[in-house]
Amino acid sequence: MTLKKSVSVFGVTGSIGTSTVDILKTHADKYSVDAVTAHSNVDALAAIAKDVGAKCAVIGDPAYFNQLRDALAGTDIEVGAGESALIEAAERPSDIVIAAIVGAAGLKPTLAAIRRGARVGLANKETLVCAGALMTAEVVKHNATLIPVDSEHSAIFQVLEDRAEDRVDRILLTASGGPFREWSLADMMSVTRVQALAHPNWEMGAKISIDSATMMNKGLELIEAWHLFPVSEDRIEIVVHPQSVVHSMVEYSDGSVLAQLGSPDMRTPIAYALSWPDRIRVDVKRLDFATIGSLNFESPDTKRFPALRLAREALQEGGTLPTVLNGANEVAVDAFLKDKIGFLDIAGIVEEVMGKVGSEKLTNLDQVFETDARVRRETAAMIAAV
Ligand code: NAD
Ligand code: MG
Repeated sequence: MTLKKSVSVFGVTGSIGTSTVDILKTHADKYSVDAVTAHSNVDALAAIAKDVGAKCAVIGDPAYFNQLRDALAGTDIEVGAGESALIEAAERPSDIVIAAIVGAAGLKPTLAAIRRGARVGLANKETLVCAGALMTAEVVKHNATLIPVDSEHSAIFQVLEDRAEDRVDRILLTASGGPFREWSLADMMSVTRVQALAHPNWEMGAKISIDSATMMNKGLELIEAWHLFPVSEDRIEIVVHPQSVVHSMVEYSDGSVLAQLGSPDMRTPIAYALSWPDRIRVDVKRLDFATIGSLNFESPDTKRFPALRLAREALQEGGTLPTVLNGANEVAVDAFLKDKIGFLDIAGIVEEVMGKVGSEKLTNLDQVFETDARVRRETAAMIAAV
């Protein structure tokens, strides 16, 4: 009998969180569940905690503590609320932490897991965007393991050979192009929330769906890739591939290009983060190449999708500029979801905030939190003035 691995899931009520639960339940012989967390959806959190037999459930918003305690009364499940409880949950000795909170809010718990040398399956790309260099330094210092869950980065991770630094010529990051891939700028001006939330290939949370529509998601992923893989910025190329079948590719010095393919279903990269270096069975739709027929590729259009240019600029400039880009984007996306700004305003506002706040050399984590807080204030003020 093999010993079960214990897994904690941060952001368990979300799109990645519930897909993770699906795999953990299918493979209950291999995995047990330690901590599960959510922001404010108490009922869903309590139901999942009971369903998977979690040892601990934490709600991020402390206002829901009593509700969570009542919902889990009579069980052995420990309950907690607030940021400090999220951090304590990450400090519990589970073998694997799936980081699936959305946004910079995931940074502190993810760092706590890294600092105890855990294996972290990282979906929460915003954390690497706003504190990448500091986070990867902590990974090395504490002998933690960071495994990407983002499908593109999982693909690269799966085809990247050991010690490949001087053998990799290019990383080709594929992008679906989102729902507005073929739209003119003029048409994009009047995009509605519902249109922007309807991704052609993937079912995801609201924030990443909007990021995919503006292509900021691919910009964030460019920065994420740079932190995860040993390749200079100019060697990471974005390729638009509308079918989302090729999840990304690595080109080697001998001209070989290795790609990872699969159905657009996040359960595959989540399972890989859980089972690596092994693989486990996942009940995803199999690719039928004859039915697919053809795969298409095209260059991204940074005129219609300026977020791609802004993210590349942030990466080239470095320092705190990616933190600024991320914070401004989070606030702008939230404002768009609340119908306060138009679709094209998202990138416009991010660009303005980047220009206004500028970049500083990044030396410590406090600076990340201060920059993030300042950017959120500046962006909110800018939106209020529109
Ligand atoms: P989601 O909105 O569906 O779920 C987010 C989860 O985080 C929820 O459980 C929510 O309760 C929790 N949460 C939100 N704000 C929080 C806060 N302030 N404090 C604590 N918890 C909070 O999002 P998602 O689509 O599952 O995405 C999660 C992360 O994974 C994002 O960073 C996203 O970019 C990344 N990702 C998602 C997909 C996907 O297919 N959904 C693919 C690749 C990467
Ligand atoms: Mg992705």
